[in-house]
This record gives sequence, C-alpha cells and structure tokens, in this order.
Amino acid sequence: MMARNRHDHFYRLAKKEGYRSRAAYKLKQIDSRFRIIRRGDVVVDLGAAPGGWLQVAKELSGGTVVGIDLQPIRSIDGVTTLAADVTADGTIDAIRELIGGEGGNGHGRANVVLSDAAPNLSGDWSYDHARSIDLAEHALSCAEQILTPGGNFVVKVFQGDLFHGYLQRVRSVFGTVRAHSPAASRKVSAETYIIAKKFRRARRNL
Ligand code: SAM
Repeated sequence: MMARNRHDHFYRLAKKEGYRSRAAYKLKQIDSRFRIIRRGDVVVDLGAAPGGWLQVAKELSGGTVVGIDLQPIRSIDGVTTLAADVTADGTIDAIRELIGGEGGNGHGRANVVLSDAAPNLSGDWSYDHARSIDLAEHALSCAEQILTPGGNFVVKVFQGDLFHGYLQRVRSVFGTVRAHSPAASRKVSAETYIIAKKFRRARRNL
C-alpha cells in the first residue's frame, strides 16, 4: 500500500472491518448498485490477491468461490485459490476443474466472473493502458468459456483509446453492459469497471 493511501477513508475502513484491501468496497458498491452476485452463485475472481473481492464474493454468494492470481493468496475460509497467470494456456481448464469438482456446480460453469486484474504500472500511460486491455481481453475470453447463460461479468479497465473497441466486444456477448466508476475508486484514478449482465453466447473462434 503506498504512503499516500494510508489515511484514505476506505483503507482505514478495510482495516477496521477485516477486509484485505480497500478494493473490497468497490465490489460492495458495484454489487449493491448492479446486483451481480446472488446467493449460491459460483464466482470466479481473476487477479484476486490479496483477496478483498474474494471475501466480499464469499459473503454474498456463500457458494463456490475461486480466486486466481500470479501472487499466492493467503487462505480464506471456504474459498479456493490458484496461483496462475490468467493469460496462460491451461489456466481456463484449471479453473473449470476447480469449479466442476466437489463443491462446484458439477458442470465446470460459473455464474459470475470478476476481474480486478491490473498490470504493474510502468508510468508510460499508453503502454499500461494496452496491458490493462490485454488482461481484460483474457478475462472476457475466460468469461465466454466458463459462464453459464445469463451469467454476469465485471472487469476493470484503464481508460484510453482502446477502451471503446473493448466495450463493443463485451456488448456483443452480453445483454446489458454499463461502464461505471464506484465511489471507492480514487478520484484521480483512470480505472473504470465494465458491468456486463445476461451472458448470451460466446464469439466464434475463441
Ligand atoms: N481485487 C483484489 C482485492 O480485492 O484484493 C485486488 C486486485 S489487485 C488491484 C490486481 C491483481 O492483479 C494483482 O494482485 C496482480 O498480481 C494481479 N494480476 C496482474 N496480472 C495478472 C495475470 N496475468 N494473472 C493473474 N493475476 C494477475
């Protein structure tokens, strides 16, 4: 956590309420506005470390929750985690196995895919934006391959010139799509969350 965040309202609240990250409040705010996670849902969270979203997803769903990150995630009661790269071949199959196994819905399908994955910032905005879009593309492809029809998808994207094209690709596979910045995102942040509901069908040639 950077020094400038130490006295941030949501940082302090996360400490007080036992969440691992201030990001937990972004998912809470997104869910209370858009109703993403229902009781019993199978939820897959990409770029999940240190685990704030996983804690919130588990509270909301109570069902199978799986988190994937390059970094190991300290264990959370009732949550399965996997140290893996979401852009690597084989990661989607590994996720399918986790959600299809015992405790999952038995079909290797999720009701909700979340991605708060973000690249390490280089300081070169167009480079960081392109890497953020690349992660978001992999998250979308994962969502298309594992979501159940009618499922929901939330993904973080840094704003920039590739944003509009990406939004169009999300629109082509979901029934309703909104771009949203939760109040818990910092005012100076250029991050936006795309909230996509009612998964219809995957694009061809994934
Ligand atoms: N939502 C999390 C929470 O509430 O604790 C915070 C996520 S943090 C902003 C972004 C995460 O994305 C980092 O932990 C980073 O390791 C992860 N990440 C970035 N690239 C990734 C990749 N290719 N595969 C898996 N995780 C990745």
